[in-house]
Amino acid sequence: MDFSSLAVLSGLPQQDPHNAVGVPIYATAAYGFADLEDGAHKFATNQGYTYTRLQNPTVAALEARLTALEGALGAVCLASGQAASFAGLLALVRAGDEVVASPGLFGGTVGLLNQVFGLMGVRVHFVAPEVAAVQAALNEKTRAVFVEVLGNPSLELPDLQGLAELCEAHRVALVVDNTFGAVGALARPLEHGAHVVVHSLTKWASGHGSILGGAVLSRETALWQHYPQFTSPDAQGKIPWEQFGARCFLERVRQLGLSLGGMVLSPFNAYLLFQGLETVALRIERASQTALTLARWLESQPQVAWVRYPGLPTDPAHPRATQYLRGGFGSILTFGIRGGLEGASRFLANLKIIQAPNVGDARTLAVHPWTTTHSRIPEAARRAAGVGPETIRLSVGLESPQDIQQMLLEALASVEQVGHEG
Ligand SMILES: *Cc1c(COP(=O)(O)O)cnc(C)c1O
Repeated sequence: MDFSSLAVLSGLPQQDPHNAVGVPIYATAAYGFADLEDGAHKFATNQGYTYTRLQNPTVAALEARLTALEGALGAVCLASGQAASFAGLLALVRAGDEVVASPGLFGGTVGLLNQVFGLMGVRVHFVAPEVAAVQAALNEKTRAVFVEVLGNPSLELPDLQGLAELCEAHRVALVVDNTFGAVGALARPLEHGAHVVVHSLTKWASGHGSILGGAVLSRETALWQHYPQFTSPDAQGKIPWEQFGARCFLERVRQLGLSLGGMVLSPFNAYLLFQGLETVALRIERASQTALTLARWLESQPQVAWVRYPGLPTDPAHPRATQYLRGGFGSILTFGIRGGLEGASRFLANLKIIQAPNVGDARTLAVHPWTTTHSRIPEAARRAAGVGPETIRLSVGLESPQDIQQMLLEALASVEQVGHEG
């Protein structure tokens, strides 16, 4: 089935007592047992529902839908995108292991790697997400290579296929943060060889900027038989790779992230995300069209020094974008205001578009990364990530393109006095 059909048909309840068409919200902490044997069996096998920290039918419906949309083996949902990156990586590393990561990652991910995984004795090498640089950083302790499908706000795309082949050859997991891939509507890294995908569902899956959520997905692979945590006995004395096969990774994410780590997605949020997925392809298609229109228009404005949008044929990311993105080029674009920080300040002071540090909302949101989302990153690294004092990031929403353009035009008019000196 096509993505648009799966988005509305996958994950629906199979045996609802009332033949409910939509997914019910199961607001329950625990599930009853028929007798001693039933409880003992469920605890011994981890099958069936026992307690919502481990599994919940509403969350399971969302996991089934995400699995279908990304063409994955399975999914585990968590409380936020941060929780997903945390639990996904936690299942892959042990003290003394190493991770190779892109320096342009979402700030929260950089902090997670440096501060949290650093505390646990995991070393991180930050190198550009290009095959040669990653290859040079790999060694026998490397357990994961972590990249984003589309840099934020650099809007660079890594060579997913090349990185996947490299990782496969070195028996290292390629983990892709596919948040900007809009849960498969725009990009499906698992199809290009990534072993694991993590998501902030807060963004395009929710689509309305209303709640937080995250997910970890993986594909069919024999990679896990090279990881000691999957080939040595677990707390129950069982060998995860023998017991679960390729699912052993997701079982470990569930065990460490949910059962023990407690980073659980509420069934109420799962319900909203399940519903959000029904329109994600339509939303990203519409927002992509608007973003392309605006990018072309911004290029012709005298107060704009430069525009980055992967859909522009002249954009450096365009060739890879045509290879890895489908259904559009995404709803994020960045541009530089002439006059640097002063120009950007004047522009935002006169901008009627909502200014907020989020993406994938139904509303268009503008942000000045230099002084907000990227302000804690050292200046050189900020510039390397494509952020300058003049940079504005726009997450294009569902308003009419003409209305967004008019709001941008009014704010640009206020920049005029700064002049064209750059
Ligand atoms: C927002 C975001 C995250 C973190 O997700 P939360 O749901 O806010 O915890 C991780 N990665 C990327 C690329 C993001 O945009």
